[in-house]
Amino acid sequence: MDAGAAIWEYLGADAPVADLPAMGYGEVASGYATTHSAESVGIIGGGYVGIETAEAFAEHGLDVHLFEMVPHTLQPFGAEAAATVEDHLRKQGIDLHLDTAVEGIDGAGSVERIGTGDHTVPVDLALVGVGVAPNTELAEAAGIELGTTGAIANDRYGQTNDDQVYTARDCAEATHTVTGEPDHVPLALTANRAGRAIGATLAGDPTPIGEIAGTAAVKAFDLEVARTGVIDEESAAEAGFDPVSVTITAQSRAHYYPGGEEIQITLVADRESERVLGASMVGREGVAKRIDTVAAALHAEMTVHQLSYLDLAYAPSFSPVWDPVLTATKVLHGKVAG
Ligand SMILES: Cc1cc2nc3c(=O)[nH]c(=O)nc-3n(C[C@H](O)[C@H](O)[C@H](O)COP(=O)(O)OP(=O)(O)OC[C@H]3O[C@@H](n4cnc5c(N)ncnc54)[C@H](O)[C@@H]3O)c2cc1C
Repeated sequence: MDAGAAIWEYLGADAPVADLPAMGYGEVASGYATTHSAESVGIIGGGYVGIETAEAFAEHGLDVHLFEMVPHTLQPFGAEAAATVEDHLRKQGIDLHLDTAVEGIDGAGSVERIGTGDHTVPVDLALVGVGVAPNTELAEAAGIELGTTGAIANDRYGQTNDDQVYTARDCAEATHTVTGEPDHVPLALTANRAGRAIGATLAGDPTPIGEIAGTAAVKAFDLEVARTGVIDEESAAEAGFDPVSVTITAQSRAHYYPGGEEIQITLVADRESERVLGASMVGREGVAKRIDTVAAALHAEMTVHQLSYLDLAYAPSFSPVWDPVLTATKVLHGKVAG
């Protein structure tokens, strides 16, 4: 937050974040702003932070270059959703540099260039958003075991190998509800939930920290993008599934009701068990919370057929009679059962 506030200050914006505690960056940023103005920015990383800051910089009038080292942005959302987001970003004037690993930020006294040896772009500002890794230094020094993901290993109550030490969230593993394996997905709800559960356990009411599905949503200009479960075929195969997927588009409202928008859904299931494994969605409305239907199905270990028979809400202003999730299940059922 403090880095965000500093960038805001540097750009000379009216600062709605001015009440944040001063962390030292603000002074540096405003000093820098008196000698260097920014008309362009190079963002390193096409994840949540990269995509959301691309929008913020563009709305502030900067030319935005977004660098992503792999072929698609928003990796956990799958290639289909990412491709739709990337088309949209380009339409908003964002210069995407995909499959391009930034090797350096150059300049004399200020940022002047960003990129790789044969592909550099002149920019005035650089933003690095390349993901997070669990900070396990303190735990390791205390003899706490890490898991295969590099985060702190723990049992279903969040207890580590030291029975007097519990661990919750961004630094900790949790069990993935689809694969049944430990995973590391640092997000806020599971952090809050695990903290609460551990508190209850320590107060004498043993409470499991719960499983995760990796459910997440992000905003890319006026697009809502959401995901849950296991989407990419490689991860599904590694977890012992035989993944089958479909990508459909459906309307967010009844076809006769004004203002509907297209929703693209990718739904993945296991061929043999027909269990739903995951989904991604993209669209201008009705996406960010619609993913929760699929997340609930994952926790309940539903098959495609069971998901297709859920009684979901319908009113023309909010959904077609067949909710887009139900439409996706029908198409996918034809594929797994056929
Ligand atoms: C820019 C950004 C946007 C995000 N957006 C979303 C979102 O939209 N949805 C979502 O689900 N998640 C989001 N997250 C992730 C979410 O913020 C984290 O998953 C969540 O805050 C993790 O909680 P936590 O308690 O593990 O860690 P934190 O919230 O980071 O809290 C850890 C605290 O421990 C303190 N600390 C560290 N070391 C020590 C020490 N040695 N002694 C004492 N204190 C210490 C830190 O200062 C910090 O206050 C976002 C994260 C970022 C950075």
